Amino acid sequence: MDKCVGLYIHIPFCKAKCYYCDFTSFDNQNEKMAPYVFALCEEIKQYGEILQDRQVDTIFIGGGTPTVLPLALLEKILKNLKENFKIESSFEFTVESNPGTLNKELLYLLKEYRVNRLSMGLQATQNKILKSLGRIHSLEDFYNNYHLARQMGYQNINVDLIFSLPDQTKKEWADTLKYIIKSEPEHISCYSLIIEENSYFGRLKKEGKLKEASDELDRELYHYARKILTENKYHHYEISNFSKKGFESRHNMNCWKYKPYVGMGLGAHSFINGQRYHNSYNLDKYIQSQGKIESIKEEIESIPLTMQYGEYIFLGLRLTEGISIKDFESQFNISFHALFGEKVKKLIEEGLLIKKQDRIQLSLKGLDLANIVFAEFLP
Ligand code: SF4
Repeated sequence: MDKCVGLYIHIPFCKAKCYYCDFTSFDNQNEKMAPYVFALCEEIKQYGEILQDRQVDTIFIGGGTPTVLPLALLEKILKNLKENFKIESSFEFTVESNPGTLNKELLYLLKEYRVNRLSMGLQATQNKILKSLGRIHSLEDFYNNYHLARQMGYQNINVDLIFSLPDQTKKEWADTLKYIIKSEPEHISCYSLIIEENSYFGRLKKEGKLKEASDELDRELYHYARKILTENKYHHYEISNFSKKGFESRHNMNCWKYKPYVGMGLGAHSFINGQRYHNSYNLDKYIQSQGKIESIKEEIESIPLTMQYGEYIFLGLRLTEGISIKDFESQFNISFHALFGEKVKKLIEEGLLIKKQDRIQLSLKGLDLANIVFAEFLP
């Protein structure tokens, strides 16, 4: 059994809903923050007991916007995590933030509780684009709080960016990347905009009022990001993620390497002991359950072995280093070639996969057509 586990904590509150967002997050629900945190801390305590034999090697507080919580509530969560889990000395502790919600007191509190990785959702550097996305912050907010975090000793910062935005020009994307490279964060995530049906943009699209980037432009912007970031010593280690050496996101790496994680809070997903499930997405139900794990767990699923093989491969192929055949065989005690030899041969012939000694990786063409490759491995 894996002795380590990663923890994910979900905070489903935001100041305002961004136009492209369909995450489990709500604005204008501030009165529910305190009862939510009460339920969440009860859930944390229960998992503390259930997971007492495991070391926690990563914690990720995400959302929503964790930094929108009042300091006292955020401290309550941090305190409960500290008191209820055995935490590895070299653990990675990330908190997601919106640049418009940071301040000195908050950054100080996070440091006090050993948060050692800050993730900032900047998305773009043009204030007119930020406004058109419904973001609550400006570039100046980012600049001020990024440098404040640096002065306060944060040495591992991620910046999230989005490309293929409606009406975004190539120059605007290039300017965003150049600005960020100059700021030198340790980690940069670049996501291509996906128009989700249940977002404001999704509704505009349905009414024919949204101008989407073409697939050709989307790929051009992605290739440009890859080129300029790698030229500037950012290692492209996962489809959408780049980092300086040694600053890959350990929390996400564990997920891509098929390691166990437990999610707490509204709608949070867990994968542990060959089982997968998620918490209820209903905020009132979550609060009323007062964190009782058995009342909020939904869609509990034991993952059949054939599905585990496929998931292990397609998650691992997200990493540019790909998967090791030896690791696969020692994890599942079965011949990789007997299961997937023919498929891999075909995908190599099609130029989508590359084989390097013991490893199988996506080619550059495969990076663009990753979903087609992944589908090949699922039963
Ligand atoms: S801040 Fe993040 S979670 Fe909140 S609405 Fe915007 S994109 Fe969604």
